[in-house]
Amino acid sequence: MAMVTATAAAVRHGGRPVRVLVDMDGVLADFEAGLLRAFCRRFPGEPHVPLAERRGFFAREQYRALRPDLADKVASVYEAPGFFLDLEPIPGAVEAMQQMNALKDTEVFICTSPLLKFDHCVGEKYRWVEKHLGPQFVERIIMTRDKTVVLGDLLIDDKDTIQGQEETPSWEHILFTCCHNQHLALPPTRRRLLSWSDNWREIIDSKRRLGPRAEDGS
Ligand SMILES: [Mg+2]
Repeated sequence: MAMVTATAAAVRHGGRPVRVLVDMDGVLADFEAGLLRAFCRRFPGEPHVPLAERRGFFAREQYRALRPDLADKVASVYEAPGFFLDLEPIPGAVEAMQQMNALKDTEVFICTSPLLKFDHCVGEKYRWVEKHLGPQFVERIIMTRDKTVVLGDLLIDDKDTIQGQEETPSWEHILFTCCHNQHLALPPTRRRLLSWSDNWREIIDSKRRLGPRAEDGS
């Protein structure tokens, strides 16, 4: 019955539901603050990169530039058991996800890439979602190292450049502002979401009534 209702609503709105893919680290879970906090706790005598000075997506590379041996030290922090599970939610993220999920004609998925050292990360990401967003979102986790092959209208993600096997992904990448990307100048065609207080509803609405995903550009 729910399926029929959702389909009928989509038809009334002249198209299919808008599918939103939401990244996890840096968008839902505060990876950068958690990393800095855990690094300083574990290596109190070592230099660190304050969040205001973070540049580039990979913290490991900035720590390597600071001093080569710090690369492995910072990686050991996010590869440790408990790191992902203990991350704090980004302010407003939990509320925004619940509101987004309740919107008519809107499908919300979490689209997240596990570390290559996946031993703790994968299970803890599932547990984090269950803990903070609830079991209905556990059903909506897409875990992949290549987001370009996932179909969607929007991908909200803090990584500045997202590449993979598919050269022309179906989604528009909305750059979620994070300490490491806030200074980047984007081309005028690219859009940002500054935070969860920013107008994410307007971005979703801009994707309504576009017709079949594959025909968007034709
Ligand atoms: Mg991310």
